[in-house]
Amino acid sequence: MNNTFGMNTIPDNDNQRVGSLEKYQIFNTPAEPAFDHIAALAAKIFQVPIVLITFINKDEVFFKANIGLPGVKAVPRAESICALSILHQDPTVFTQPLLEPFIKDLPLVTGPVQLRFYAGVPIFNKAGNALGTLCLIDRKERTFSSTEAAILQDLATLVSNETEARLTIIQQKQRQDQFKGQLEESEIRFQNLVEQAPIAIAVFQGLSFKVLQANQKMLKLWNKELDDVLGQPLLTFRPEMHGHPYLNVLHEVFVTGESHASYEIKGPVMIEGHPESYYDVMYQPLKDDKNEVTGVMAMLIDVTEERHGRQREQELNEELITANEELFAINEELMHTSQERLKAEELLRVALDTASIGTWHMDLDTRVFTASSRMNELFGFDTGYKISEQDLIRQIDPAYQEHVKRLAFESVRKGAPYRVEYPIIGFNDQKIKWLLAVGRLYDNPKQQVRHFSGVTMDITEQKQDEIRKNDFIGMVSHELKTPLTSLKGYIQMLHQKAVKKEDEYSSNALGKVEKQIIKMQTLINGFLNLSGLETGKIKLNIKEFDICQLVSDTIEDVKIGSSTAHEFIPEPSEGVMLVRADRDKIGQVIYNFMTNTIKYAPLSKEVNVSCKQVGEHIQVSVKDYGIGIKPADIPKIFDRFFRVDNLYTQHISGFGIGLYLSKEIIQRHHGQIWVESNPGEGTTFFFKLPVSGN
Ligand code: ADP
Repeated sequence: MNNTFGMNTIPDNDNQRVGSLEKYQIFNTPAEPAFDHIAALAAKIFQVPIVLITFINKDEVFFKANIGLPGVKAVPRAESICALSILHQDPTVFTQPLLEPFIKDLPLVTGPVQLRFYAGVPIFNKAGNALGTLCLIDRKERTFSSTEAAILQDLATLVSNETEARLTIIQQKQRQDQFKGQLEESEIRFQNLVEQAPIAIAVFQGLSFKVLQANQKMLKLWNKELDDVLGQPLLTFRPEMHGHPYLNVLHEVFVTGESHASYEIKGPVMIEGHPESYYDVMYQPLKDDKNEVTGVMAMLIDVTEERHGRQREQELNEELITANEELFAINEELMHTSQERLKAEELLRVALDTASIGTWHMDLDTRVFTASSRMNELFGFDTGYKISEQDLIRQIDPAYQEHVKRLAFESVRKGAPYRVEYPIIGFNDQKIKWLLAVGRLYDNPKQQVRHFSGVTMDITEQKQDEIRKNDFIGMVSHELKTPLTSLKGYIQMLHQKAVKKEDEYSSNALGKVEKQIIKMQTLINGFLNLSGLETGKIKLNIKEFDICQLVSDTIEDVKIGSSTAHEFIPEPSEGVMLVRADRDKIGQVIYNFMTNTIKYAPLSKEVNVSCKQVGEHIQVSVKDYGIGIKPADIPKIFDRFFRVDNLYTQHISGFGIGLYLSKEIIQRHHGQIWVESNPGEGTTFFFKLPVSGN
């Protein structure tokens, strides 16, 4: 009871009252016309020199409106009569303060204010808490009628209403601020989204299509910086769009409020420098809260890759059709080389044996696999049994399972044609058969089809012929290998003797014989490999090694094995490059590339050999400056028994298996092999293998 009144002036609910007052955020705020106006009105009605509108917190009485006490903003609660006024609903009135023991000694009465009359009523909020007062003070004594009391209370109600209205405004503003904050946040989020989107986006405002926003991808297409375009109408920085149909489309979207989409539009809508690009174009109207169009968002999705992919698919399709035609009417023209005769015969046989062609289909979205009943027959399952993809894989010779799965996977992933030969064991009959499966990915997003399907046929007979032939070659080669090895040993011995004896003629002749033997050995090894590869017997001896070292070692081997004037120039290697592979087999590929330069590019004095890391692969290349290879021959160069047929090559010995074997070896290592050549300028053979650890 620490006050000048000698009585309790703090109501029981004071904490709640003060808490409630805080919400109004009115304490210690500047004067406001609405409150001043009511105070002035009261001063006029009651003809008093001092009118206060106060708000009372825990310790202070703050004057929100103050008429007659200039400069006083607040007084201590303990000394304020208003602190008494909030204790009662009715007006607190002192008409003769000097006679009132509670207040006669207050500074207000004794000090310069000279208070001789006081009438105050509480200002209640909606919840019924007395937040402060409206009070009248006079310097002379006066009476206060009940009518006056009623008017004062009415005025206090006005103050209450004003206080509530003020709170509503504050709350609205708070909500607005919060909303603005959220809006800003969502705008930032939107901007980030626009920036990071894998598509080109621009936001245009109004019918002049002023740029509000454009992400980096769009700026790149426009070939502009953000500062050049921001706030600029589209036509000012892209005058070439004048009269362009797409400008009309933009207008239409703006006017109708309906979005637009068109697919695979060629580059000119965009900018020069992207002539080969194709885009899916989308225009989306942007509407305000009254559903009126304020702008357009343009989105461009680069679909060049997909389109090229589809072109490849079409080419593939055409190839398949051609293959079919070959199947039924063996084209005379195709018959003139042994290679093509082989192919045609194979296709004819397949065609004649139509009964053993099965079809299969895998829906890539649902993963549902379906197969024709011929497939049951081929894989030895009961007719009527619904075979799964797993059923089929299980019947494949385990040595081939991974290979088949990998090729199928690659075909689905890259859209590459799927063609694979593999042996199986029939489920019921346990019969061993060779099958040929051909298929491809059908992926057309527009028609929403995505499946991998194809045909499988029985090629056991052809295969058995081939196996028999290969076995024979293998056997003969093997038989030749042993005597040749001892022959080489003897010759080397004789050669050394002749050198020692300084018998120049013999040593020369024996040196030549030795080289011929090395050639024969290479050939025989090739045949042995071939027969091994064909029957799937080839075993890779995988170890980690430095492939650049192998390249240098092979250069030495080639120099020893041939009397060539070729200079093999290794590109400086960038250090150790480890791969996990069969060292001998990879060496064989490099050896083949190098010796081919001697055979087919004899005038190329220099041959550049390089070994370097390209991304996740190590790439080896052998470049000569010889006659080159005709573009028409390039697709066939890695085929079995393929030899370029020209006057020059006719006189060079070879069977067209070196590059075929090289391809098989590289493919079995999950690598890639290819050639680039310009007739008359030279040829570069390449292969690449995954870096060890990948
Ligand atoms: P082979 O040498 O046994 O005939 P390859 O498979 O090694 O078989 O080569 C196939 C064909 O590719 C050769 O007959 C030749 O016409 C061509 N060829 C290979 N390398 C080169 C090269 N560096 N320059 C030109 N033609 C080449």
